[in-house]
Amino acid sequence: MELTGIAASAGISIGKILKIESSELMISEDLITNSDLEITKLINAIEVSKLEISKIKDITHKNFGHEKSAIFEAHLLILEDPEIKTQVEDLVNNKKYNISFAVKTVMDNSITLFESIGDEYMKERALDIKDVFTRVLNHLEGNKIVDLSLLNEPVILAADDLTPSQAAMMNKDAVIGFLTDKGGKTSHTAIMARSLEIPSIVGLKKITEIVENNMIVAFNGKTGEVKINPSASELKVYEDLKLKDNQQKEELKKLIGTQAITTDGLKIEVAGNIGTAQDLDSFFKNDAESVGLYRTEFLFLDRDSMPSEEEQYIEYSKIIKKLDGKNCIIRTLDIGGDKNLPYLKVEKEENPFLGYRAIRICLDRVDIFKTQLRAILRASTYGPVGIMFPMISCLEELSAAKKILKECRDELLNEKISFSQDIKIGIMIEIPSAALMSDKLAKHVDFFSMGTNDLTQYTCAVDRINQKISHLYNPFNPGLLKLINMTAKSAKDGNIDISICGSMAHFPELIPFFIGSGITKLSMSPMHILKTKAHILKLNEDLCKQMVPKLLELETTKEIKSYLENFHKEMK
Ligand code: PEP
Ligand code: MG
Repeated sequence: MELTGIAASAGISIGKILKIESSELMISEDLITNSDLEITKLINAIEVSKLEISKIKDITHKNFGHEKSAIFEAHLLILEDPEIKTQVEDLVNNKKYNISFAVKTVMDNSITLFESIGDEYMKERALDIKDVFTRVLNHLEGNKIVDLSLLNEPVILAADDLTPSQAAMMNKDAVIGFLTDKGGKTSHTAIMARSLEIPSIVGLKKITEIVENNMIVAFNGKTGEVKINPSASELKVYEDLKLKDNQQKEELKKLIGTQAITTDGLKIEVAGNIGTAQDLDSFFKNDAESVGLYRTEFLFLDRDSMPSEEEQYIEYSKIIKKLDGKNCIIRTLDIGGDKNLPYLKVEKEENPFLGYRAIRICLDRVDIFKTQLRAILRASTYGPVGIMFPMISCLEELSAAKKILKECRDELLNEKISFSQDIKIGIMIEIPSAALMSDKLAKHVDFFSMGTNDLTQYTCAVDRINQKISHLYNPFNPGLLKLINMTAKSAKDGNIDISICGSMAHFPELIPFFIGSGITKLSMSPMHILKTKAHILKLNEDLCKQMVPKLLELETTKEIKSYLENFHKEMK
């Protein structure tokens, strides 16, 4: 059987399925007669949970160090807390609650209590209690728990969707692929898969309905095709593709340490996009020169409350320190669209990508914006940093954002807290009105970065995650290329830096167009960096420059594609 979804992370994967169920626990109240039996069940469930958490702690320690594993030490202490145990026993002995209901009652009460204190630290503790006792409850209810950090044989995960914390904890040597029902090319699961360099297809709609644990599947993360229970001949096709893919990867490794310079001597900076500190593994492995886009929203996702200034400061500092002098462009919160924060309690919108999103939220919720800006400013003492505002559609928004940034600087000065005096300020050009006004905007910033994922969406009026119209999402649209070229010219005339940080940055056919338009920095998922370097090494800047005006004269996508394909072939 064959299924096609959205190609999210390139690579061939062949292996056994492991399904991740996202079932909610349903605990009902039953009155019991034998209290001792219930208490024994609790003791057993706690013991099993302790063993599992200890194992997770050890593995996390080995893979990520003490800082990440410390949380599991805290979880073990919660399991040993005599106060919680006494409360549960009390409910069983005196109210005759069944053990699951008693545990759930105590868990819910503790969470409410911790959350009501309002302190960030206490809110974190509430999350820990939920984590630990959900495990205990699953054991009491006889549910199988899949611990992604304990996986010890290669599996392809099939899930409705994956959360960033599941990705953070998974044993990356064992997970050889993700297949999900939900998601689009630029949804957070897809971005995560690329940064972990795990082949992935998202938006398969019903993969979790079709597959069962241990079924064999083979898939191509570049084309979006999945074969379920492949025949021997189909399997052979995928095995051959995988072999070729691996050979190509080995070949590309030779480019580590080589700069991306055209045949006539133009140096192109090839930077990496990251979402978390964890992505730095792939960043360094693939020899990225700097961080061209740090999507900070990952720190805000998959949790119950906003990260505090301190927590953000710690996270940004960690990344900047690890970069050890390499530049880091930190994008302020770009939430909304397909990335929601339930704790922001934003009403459901008809058109989320055209709605309350990114800088619009930050200019409305100045408290959130200032918390983040202060954290970035404070972290800037550890290395070169740029601050970039997303979704700017007009100068008024940029001015408002800069005014708030100045307020944050003044506050820190007053509080005698240090920050770098040399922070570059930039904007994403990802809305057509900003591209059209780029000559004016260039006078107010140090750099532009072109968010071509959104620019394509807004220029072509094609929702970037709607599968029904994904064939219309067209990076070769002549109007879109005109806007990119126009923005590059504005940056050049205004004497400011410009880069591309959307997915188009690594499209081999388009790289000559970017270079010919005067763009000398490309930022992408680190997994694409070495291949991009290989393309650049074959290009000639002069020829790229000559090609661009001819390209911009063409009228249709078809003409553009064939023109670029021919140019690409000639350069090989
Ligand atoms: C873009 O829009 O191209 C971009 C890089 O930002 P994001 O994909 O995070 O919206
Ligand atoms: Mg964007």
